[in-house]
Amino acid sequence: MLLPCLACETRFRPEEYFSACSDYDRGLDRVAWTCPSCGNRDDLRVFTGELGFGTAGHGRFDVHDRVRVPGLRRHRHEIALDITLDRRHWHVPRR
Ligand SMILES: [Zn+2]
Repeated sequence: MLLPCLACETRFRPEEYFSACSDYDRGLDRVAWTCPSCGNRDDLRVFTGELGFGTAGHGRFDVHDRVRVPGLRRHRHEIALDITLDRRHWHVPRR
């Protein structure tokens, strides 16, 4: 499955897509994502089975768009978010 950049519509394989995540904010439960192609930065929340794109502000994160990612799993830690898909793992450190 390929995952899209919502700005330039380039589609990425999961390895490339999730490697571009950074700055996990545990309070807002959101990660920053920087497009490897166009440099656009999105804020997103990882759900079980989907990604939620949205905006952070006033101490909360509002999801506006959702992209289904079958098999996606997440595990929150004190200092990081672990993302799992198809037996691969990505570790997004807290900022
Ligand atoms: Zn892009």
